[in-house]
Amino acid sequence: MKFFYTLLFVLISTTLVAQDTYIHCGKLIDTKSGKILTERTIVVSGKKISKVEIGYTTGESDDNIIDLKDKTVMPGLIDMHVHIESESNPKAYLERYTSNEADVAYNSVGFAKTTLMAGFTTIRDLGGSGVNIALKKAIAQGKIDGPRIFTAGKSLATTGGHADPTNGSNKSLIGDPGPKDGVVNSVEDAKKAVRQRYKNGADLIKITATGGVLSVAKSSSNPQFTIEEIKAICKTAKDYGFHVAAHAHGDEGMQRAIIGGVKTIEHGTLMSTKTMDLMKKNRAYLVPTITAGKEVTEKAKIDGYYPAIIVPKALEIGPQIQDTFKKAYKRGVRIAFGTDAGVFKHGQNAKEFGYMVEAGMRPITAIQCATIVNAKVLNMTKELGQIAPDFFADIVAVNDDPTEEIKTMENVVFVMKNGKIYKQ
Ligand SMILES: [Zn+2]
Repeated sequence: MKFFYTLLFVLISTTLVAQDTYIHCGKLIDTKSGKILTERTIVVSGKKISKVEIGYTTGESDDNIIDLKDKTVMPGLIDMHVHIESESNPKAYLERYTSNEADVAYNSVGFAKTTLMAGFTTIRDLGGSGVNIALKKAIAQGKIDGPRIFTAGKSLATTGGHADPTNGSNKSLIGDPGPKDGVVNSVEDAKKAVRQRYKNGADLIKITATGGVLSVAKSSSNPQFTIEEIKAICKTAKDYGFHVAAHAHGDEGMQRAIIGGVKTIEHGTLMSTKTMDLMKKNRAYLVPTITAGKEVTEKAKIDGYYPAIIVPKALEIGPQIQDTFKKAYKRGVRIAFGTDAGVFKHGQNAKEFGYMVEAGMRPITAIQCATIVNAKVLNMTKELGQIAPDFFADIVAVNDDPTEEIKTMENVVFVMKNGKIYKQ
């Protein structure tokens, strides 16, 4: 009988004690100190990192060992500005009328996988139709492969504003969308729209504080919300633990957004020095999206790629974004890493690193923006953005040392998310 219990104990304990994974890292980026460590071992237990050890260590005989001795290893990358449901193409404007929700959903599965394989293990999705919420759930449940998603669901706009879903439609389709559809025109609408996003399952709120480039509307930069509306949105968002991200190209709308209480300004193209100082004072972050600026400028030169009303806006705004980033960074504005992927091809998010470095940021700082800083914006400072005990085992690797060759970020060769290997 005693033998039987001993045997049972051994059987149970061997099935309960899961294998650990020992990752041998030639170089390891410590995003907290901004230093590159050499010869370290990351021990992964289940979904989390349990230890980081000096030298190359091994565990029990049945533990896995992953050899990344000739790679540079870092935390999974985080992109603060992605549209995971869609991807730019010359027929995109027509597809709004021909695609059903299921079509959008099937497409988004591919975009999510591409993003993850590029080393972006977490994204903040800044607006789509609502498929993004279902996608986030499916990924979290392990049904499909993709990054961890924090999503705004549907962006909030005002009538005719940058995220009014019926902009450019003919009279029979234009209707009168309201707070349920993400269109607000008063303080009361603003509150209802935020509460509706909560009900729908969003994680944060996105507003379009000024006109935008890719909407079928004339202005790229006029203010589109009153300050009272923005304040109502930010105040209501706070009740639900949401932060607010504001798309903004124009200076006046940007100022209203910052004073109104948003946490991040997206693009920030025409930001004045006065607004930069306001950003600093209110501890708001600029999410530059330089890649989007470059890409829309190129696409606008292709005849017929965008509707005619968009072309002059793209040619005006697109080329200015990198320069604004340069000035804002120099002036001490907080920078978070974000690209606007979806406006260009998914999986090319890491191009942004090169553009940030080109504009004067040190490579290690750009990598910190995409890890430890973005984790802070997401309020996930103890779970994301570092390789340290108790953090999620989101780990990526590149062939070269990015502090010497930043382009290596565009070729991520190893991807682990939540302790599971997706690319090796
Ligand atoms: Zn965007």
